[in-house]
Amino acid sequence: MRPDILNPLFSPVSRLAGVGPRVGQMLSKLLTRIDPDAEPRVLDLLFHLPFAVIDRSLQPAIEAAPTGSVVTLEVTVDRHQPPPRGNRRVPYRVTCHDDTGTITLTFFHAKGDWLQRSLPVGSKRFVSGKVEWFNGRASMVHPDHIVDAADFGSMPLIEPVYPMTAGLARKTLLKAIGEALTLVPELEEWLSEPTIADRAFPTFNAALRAMHHPASAEDLRPHASPRARLAYDELLASQLAIALVRDHQKRAGGEVRRAEGVLRQRILDALPFTLTESQVAALADIEADMARPERMLRLLQGDVGAGKTVVALLAAATVIESGAQTALMAPTELLARQHAQSVSEAAAAARITVAVLTGREKGAERETLLADLEHGAIDLLIGTHALFQSAVTFKNLGLVVVDEQHRFGVHQRLALTTKGRATDVLVMTATPIPRTLVLTYYGDMDVSRLTEKPAGRLPIETRAMPLDRLGDVVDRVRAAVETGAKAYWICPLVEDSDESDLVSAEARHAALTKTLGPVVGLIHGRMRADERDRIMRAFRDGDLSVLVSTTVVEVGVDVRDATIMIVEHAERFGLAQLHQLRGRVGRGEKRSTCLLLYKAPLGEVARERLSILRDSEDGFRIAENDLRLRGGGEVLGTRQSGLPGFVVALPEAHADLMEAAHREALAIVTDDPGLSSPRGQALRALLYLFGRDAAIRLLRAG
Ligand code: ADP
Ligand code: MG
Repeated sequence: MRPDILNPLFSPVSRLAGVGPRVGQMLSKLLTRIDPDAEPRVLDLLFHLPFAVIDRSLQPAIEAAPTGSVVTLEVTVDRHQPPPRGNRRVPYRVTCHDDTGTITLTFFHAKGDWLQRSLPVGSKRFVSGKVEWFNGRASMVHPDHIVDAADFGSMPLIEPVYPMTAGLARKTLLKAIGEALTLVPELEEWLSEPTIADRAFPTFNAALRAMHHPASAEDLRPHASPRARLAYDELLASQLAIALVRDHQKRAGGEVRRAEGVLRQRILDALPFTLTESQVAALADIEADMARPERMLRLLQGDVGAGKTVVALLAAATVIESGAQTALMAPTELLARQHAQSVSEAAAAARITVAVLTGREKGAERETLLADLEHGAIDLLIGTHALFQSAVTFKNLGLVVVDEQHRFGVHQRLALTTKGRATDVLVMTATPIPRTLVLTYYGDMDVSRLTEKPAGRLPIETRAMPLDRLGDVVDRVRAAVETGAKAYWICPLVEDSDESDLVSAEARHAALTKTLGPVVGLIHGRMRADERDRIMRAFRDGDLSVLVSTTVVEVGVDVRDATIMIVEHAERFGLAQLHQLRGRVGRGEKRSTCLLLYKAPLGEVARERLSILRDSEDGFRIAENDLRLRGGGEVLGTRQSGLPGFVVALPEAHADLMEAAHREALAIVTDDPGLSSPRGQALRALLYLFGRDAAIRLLRAG
């Protein structure tokens, strides 16, 4: 149960005075929410932090006001000059003066009566805004503040600037935040004394106040103590939740799974290749984990094409031989089917029964499959998130393999592990995530890395070219296709949209079909899955030579003889995403090419990104650089800035805090695993504040 003291923070923003349905709607668009399914709450508003300040403390005489700067002037109002009737393009002007000179206040589309009321002729007013000088005359367009002497005291001279959304007035937001601040209770401290002392952290409450009432731009820097305090709180909440889950899983105990390796050997005999050294090493890690009486929680990192699937199959073989079942979860139906297909031969050789379960299996077929699963007639079940629906019951689920984990939430991963009593978990990711993000998403999961590519892979020639060379590119593709080559052509959007100048996949498909003939296929995310599968198959079997696609092919699709990858508007993709796309080619014996078409001119960062990609095929290097250049969201292929799932912490700036929070979380779980001490109670509140309270259900009793 949530501590009552937190209730005011969890009430909806619509309870705040001045927040009606219209403002509420704008806030739900604007605010990153701790719980994205709920309507925005007071807490979400408080975590909406300013990114800059407007400094109005400069109060010069008119004559001395520097052009282009924000100032606050004390003036006397002289004259109103409304625009001529019917001419809305001429602004409304109000002339004012002080001892040194005059200034014109300019208003477009102004309401005259409102101006008469706020700037009566002859009165003294304080006006604040940006001054411009033109031909020796000073003007201020739409002052941000117009107040009389009585209200001047309450006008903020340092004003925070927040991310905004269209239609929301700054004053409305400021007022709502001001009110939200009055609802913050005094909470018991959850941080340890040394942490607070070392970093000079203010209390949580004081940190929030300081963030919303900055004294200068300095106060908003990521490492200013209020901001750092809030980031640390959030990181600690997430690390503590992960540590509690881990502790729970360890306590729940694992099963010792050992096998003689009969199935494994049959698979190895059936494979047309030998394992790479790092595949052998990863498998040894996994088997050692499984042989221990604790649950396995291991992350298998390996670049696209590094050969993770076969490692998963061999791990499954050991589990199956020991008498249990394995579930393999893929992020899309297409990938689930591809996994099933790619393991089918080797699995058959080892007499492992494989079945596929996605949203598409329905009716009697589904019923039979579920019954077989419950009786243990299926050894390896491959599917999408359909695997953890409640109707799915395993006879004895020993291992869950999650492919491309970052597309699943942590709670989904948890849901699957509850399907078995002592289920081991192997998470596979093709994104070589840097250490900070591993901690963020996987806590202290054990990590195995596939560092080498399977033998015989040739380097991929990567080139960047401006989009205006499109004609040449099409000629090259035509020539290549005539000699039997296969090409992917990636476009960023599905359909033409007004607000974007992106070439849509549909338009590109039509244009290429015109030049190349009926050998061009199209797949995109809004297509029905069976249709998409049919086209993928046609491409694989050679009925199609060019596959135009949105990024649905990004993860894992395997067509070994495709040798050309073209990415249109490469500047719009994340670096890691481009690296993954490139990994679709270069899998066979022939040399492959990757062409990155960009819209000129390129900005400096975009240029650097493309050159990193051109110079390296090392996914780990690319990921580190990607994090440096763009932040964590991009590394994980999501478009959000900042860390997905985090509202305050910043991946790059707060990396050092992450390590510290990780250590503090482990210490807490060692000392007080039930969070039952007074500090433990305070930590429970912390988990609620940052939406990590699901972990509380797993706490040790007593
Ligand atoms: P990942 O999932 O890591 O992107 P896959 O498991 O899909 O990579 O493997 C890519 C391709 O490489 C598959 O066709 C697979 O059969 C093949 N492969 C895997 N391991 C080896 C190896 N040791 N030698 C040669 N080919 C391999
Ligand atoms: Mg894969």
